Amino acid sequence: MSARLRAIATNIGSMTSSNDGNERSLVYLAALPVDMVKGIGPKNLKKLTSHGIRSVADLLLTPPRRYLDRSQLFDIASAPIGEEVTIGGVVTAFSKRRISRGRTMVEAKVSDGTRTVRVVWFNPYIKLDEGEEVALSGTLETFGTTLQMKGPDVDRLSREPALTTGRVVPVYSTISGINAATLRSSIDNAVRRAIPVRDVLDEATLDAYDLVDRSFAIERIHFPETLSDVGPARRRLVFDEFLRIQMALRVRAYDEFETQVGVSNSVRGPLLERYIGSLPFELTPDQGKALSEILHDMEAGTPLHRLLQGEVGSGKTVVVIAALLTSVESGHQAAFMAPTEVLATQHYLGTIRSLAEAGMAPVADADLRTGTASLFGSEPPATRPVRVALFTSGRVLVNFSRSEVNRTRALEWLADGTIDIAFGTHALIQPDVSFHSLGITVVDEQHRFGVEQRVHLRDSDRRDGVPDLLLMTATPIPRTFVMALYGDLEVSTIVTMPPGRTELETAAINADAEADTAVDSQIRSVVASGNQVFVVCPLVEPSDKIDARSATEEYLRVAGSLRDLRVGLLHGQMTSSDKAEVMEAFRVGAIDVLIATTVIEVGIDVPNATLIVVWNAERFGLSQLHQLRGRVGRGSHPGRCLLVVDASTPDAERRVDAMVATTDGFELAEVDLRIRGHGTIFGSSQSGAGDLRFGDLLRDGDLVIAASECATRAVAEDRTGRLVLEVLEEFRIFIGESDEWLGKS
Ligand code: ADP
Ligand code: MG
Repeated sequence: MSARLRAIATNIGSMTSSNDGNERSLVYLAALPVDMVKGIGPKNLKKLTSHGIRSVADLLLTPPRRYLDRSQLFDIASAPIGEEVTIGGVVTAFSKRRISRGRTMVEAKVSDGTRTVRVVWFNPYIKLDEGEEVALSGTLETFGTTLQMKGPDVDRLSREPALTTGRVVPVYSTISGINAATLRSSIDNAVRRAIPVRDVLDEATLDAYDLVDRSFAIERIHFPETLSDVGPARRRLVFDEFLRIQMALRVRAYDEFETQVGVSNSVRGPLLERYIGSLPFELTPDQGKALSEILHDMEAGTPLHRLLQGEVGSGKTVVVIAALLTSVESGHQAAFMAPTEVLATQHYLGTIRSLAEAGMAPVADADLRTGTASLFGSEPPATRPVRVALFTSGRVLVNFSRSEVNRTRALEWLADGTIDIAFGTHALIQPDVSFHSLGITVVDEQHRFGVEQRVHLRDSDRRDGVPDLLLMTATPIPRTFVMALYGDLEVSTIVTMPPGRTELETAAINADAEADTAVDSQIRSVVASGNQVFVVCPLVEPSDKIDARSATEEYLRVAGSLRDLRVGLLHGQMTSSDKAEVMEAFRVGAIDVLIATTVIEVGIDVPNATLIVVWNAERFGLSQLHQLRGRVGRGSHPGRCLLVVDASTPDAERRVDAMVATTDGFELAEVDLRIRGHGTIFGSSQSGAGDLRFGDLLRDGDLVIAASECATRAVAEDRTGRLVLEVLEEFRIFIGESDEWLGKS
């Protein structure tokens, strides 16, 4: 806590007595160090701080894990067996002894006058005093004639008499080293001293969203008069959490897009026409709709800010290339950022192939030294060649030279506008990269990049206005998640797959002695019918520590057992050019079976591949499995996914079951979130520190929408109004500082 905050704190005095009646804002309470609360000394301060509880406001916003309804205490004698109950009584005996394998068993007898229960814990840290009063929450069972409870939650009632009789009592997650009763009474002190807390919302808004006021919420979440207070209190605190996030997202969208002049990408001409005309298929209605939405926004005076989502293989890439070409046609450059080298390369190669098919490829190795004019100047405008580059960490490729080009040279071409479209990874967002006139940035699977980097690229040139920003994802996200992550962002969704796709079939087998044979026979029959196979392994090399199949050993095995097949190996430790070579060989059909790690996860497009085998499927996340499966069934032949499952956990089983049961990415995304919890949705930060304390994206989707609406209205009404600024400040305090997902922009 800084000296400045100490000074503020000293000024208002220690928070011991009840409030003087002046309303204080949550922002103000966030500036008061938590040890101002009666009951919290220097020792507890340290422990609380390490749990992210630094201020009085943090303490007030510590959610109870559950409640003990003390009016619902059962007599031990009449409590139902086999159900979760709360009983109370006096400790009549307490002992501790070591049992097998260094474990300690703690045993107590608790009696309430109606009967005695034997209680055991295998937790050496539990210590009770004989004669003290406790409440136990757990399941009663009979053991012979004895009544017993194993490992119940225990509350030590005698230590906090004022708080625990005749009321609903909050139970907080254990903070190691802090006595539960101390925490509870400290929160009680803080609540009494802090209430009334000034509300950021006015009456009309509270009414509109059916919310209780902030003081009520903060008081009753901790000390509900009856359990029915908890719902409304929680609802309000959840709304506040989402409102902070939505406000920050909305303000950023407003400041960086809606009030900015965008690059004018308004020309609709031969590049777009020729490209679309050269495709060997018609766009699907969804593709057509997404493209016209994107083109519409590109033409508008404000920069485009949109998310394009659709399953793997739904045809997003075609739409995106059309957008890139439109920007080029309008006199600007386009950038496409992919999270991995393999993916960036794949997109680059795919694009230059399409351009060649559309007759828009430049003549390779025309006089590179003399620059733009002599290279392209003589071409009639309708067939203007499009210069495309690929920037990865290892090298730079351009479609107007057969050999790799020098990075410095390529950067000059980017800066003078010679290069029209740049594909790349992080290599594209280094400080030395600058564009002549960047018209649009497309970011694929943005959640896999750091946020600052994204901002950096977008900011790199603004001479002609703010470039359009199109985000793209093959990880389907339910609407409320999109909102929670990106705010009220425009979304184009490609739902229907291109015609001719066959259903994917997924099967799971055990990694037992017969698994190798089963895998081999499936590979053999697929290759016999002229198709190709991916085999994915979790490891590159065999490992002593991790018992899972490696790509190198599987490569040797398959090459040995299926000698007549052409087997290739692809993993992240290979050089870029080796990787590209193997991928190209697989693409043109010179390799039958590609043994790989997850480098193939995203975006690899080989329609002739119809089988994917995943070894140790239990080691992969659900979205990863879904992405991997998306590598097959892209052509006209039916696709098949074979999951080989070794020693499984219940969660892994749920993932594999879900994969077998459905191919619907949205459904899988929901299952995934149920398994993993919502905390992980917020990008790279998985610490939980900045995550939601009260809210749950699965349960509280309606509040995400309500908060988004509220934020949108507030910013539209007055961007610099009190509501916007105060909620932004709350965002900074409670979320922004501990979590980087929204960025430091
Ligand atoms: P995504 O980027 O969404 O994963 P792609 O754009 O790579 O999907 O498309 C997957 C495959 O489908 C590609 O081989 C592509 O050529 C093909 N494709 C795209 N759109 C259509 C369409 N409208 N009709 C038929 N095939 C299509
Ligand atoms: Mg625009």
